[in-house]
Amino acid sequence: MRQTNLFSKTRKDAPKDEVAKNAQLLIRAGYIQKELAGVYSFLPLGLKVLNNIVSIIREEMLALGANEVSLTALQDKSIWEKTDRWSDKSMDVWFKSELKNGTEIGLAATHEEPLTRIMKDHVRSYRDLPRSVFQFQTKFRNETRAKSGIMRGREFLMKDLYSFSADEKSHQEFYDRVAESYKRIFEKVGLGSKTFMTRASGGSFAKFSHEFQTITDAGEDAIYTHADAPFAINEEIFNEPEAFEGLTLEKKDFEAQNAIEVGNIFSLGTRFSEALGLTFLDSQGKPQPAVMGSYGIGPGRVMGTIVELLSDEKGIVWPESVAPFKIHLIEIAGSPDTHEKTVALYNMLTALKIETLYDDRDMRPGEKFADADLIGIPFRVVMSDKTIAGGGVEVKKRNEESAVIISEKELLAKFPSSNPVSNSADTDHSFNS
Ligand code: ATP
Ligand code: MG
Repeated sequence: MRQTNLFSKTRKDAPKDEVAKNAQLLIRAGYIQKELAGVYSFLPLGLKVLNNIVSIIREEMLALGANEVSLTALQDKSIWEKTDRWSDKSMDVWFKSELKNGTEIGLAATHEEPLTRIMKDHVRSYRDLPRSVFQFQTKFRNETRAKSGIMRGREFLMKDLYSFSADEKSHQEFYDRVAESYKRIFEKVGLGSKTFMTRASGGSFAKFSHEFQTITDAGEDAIYTHADAPFAINEEIFNEPEAFEGLTLEKKDFEAQNAIEVGNIFSLGTRFSEALGLTFLDSQGKPQPAVMGSYGIGPGRVMGTIVELLSDEKGIVWPESVAPFKIHLIEIAGSPDTHEKTVALYNMLTALKIETLYDDRDMRPGEKFADADLIGIPFRVVMSDKTIAGGGVEVKKRNEESAVIISEKELLAKFPSSNPVSNSADTDHSFNS
């Protein structure tokens, strides 16, 4: 994309009332716009990042064998009454509205009830199980605290996956596979080294649920970690003896850290299937309630967490897997020949599907470099009279200080024509060796 064709502009200052670092940087760089506290629009660059995160998650969900759907955001009160979750006392984040005839409706905060009802029409016998279903869908929650930028929206995108199994054993097998796929997801989006799977309170159907918590000062939760423990522990259960079940470690050796919940996995037992009548006929022909699980990830929260963790004093530093573009091609005004060569390189990169943002704006080099640092695209490629005289283009990684001049041919060889999301991990991008 040519930068002269991008409507969003960078800005020096974030809105005064914006306190979260992720939102400040994303607003200044033109990724998002603040509509209200906790309510953000995604601009072209922001949508590209969000979609890259969504693609990584979708690939893993499909690999689990889950079916993708899109359920409605307007919800039917009657099914929420059956599970006793309509009242504001049981679910305190509801946004509710009503139809012209007075019928009350809810705005989706989660989707266990509607999906369980849908499954009733499609699950008859044990042969129809297990099933898993997911979506990327907007959730509305009247959050009291909305000071964490896109990490806690009042309107936000969620990936929610639900599973339906014939028995506990089959449920547990799927649950364990989801845990593995979550580990791969957080690895792929660049949060792997800071993300812990934690034991959290399990509700009435399981001893524990599990959360995926990323260590960051901006986190609203506290978790306890231990270098030798296979899992971390959420603050809410840290004083329960059973939180330490299975392993010999001393409670006093755990260290408390701030963290943000980027995902969770939850065993629901038969709470929803019994309340809503989702039963199947077992091999003896006897009706049984399905055993369910639910599994969430907030792609916007993941995006905000990446910004919190990986930015520096100059701006955002995207991991390649989620970056809006792979290359930021910067033209420094010079001879007509330099301009022609830059356009030719841009056309070549685009033809090879190597995602490139081409800074073709009429601006001073210093301003272009500052914008490039703020926007945070992984590779900065500069073309000027000087680089051409030196043999080609100057390449610098966003997270490194040193730049090198290489030929255009060498540059293209470093970026095999590829899908920017799935192949990035395999490619050797070191220029300085
Ligand atoms: P929290 O304790 O942080 O409020 P939650 O327990 O309410 O999270 P879930 O209802 O399980 O979260 O939602 C599933 C996932 O959706 C979370 O793991 C998180 O990644 C994301 N998420 C939850 N609330 C928000 C929000 N307000 N804004 C953005 N993402 C969110
Ligand atoms: Mg919540």
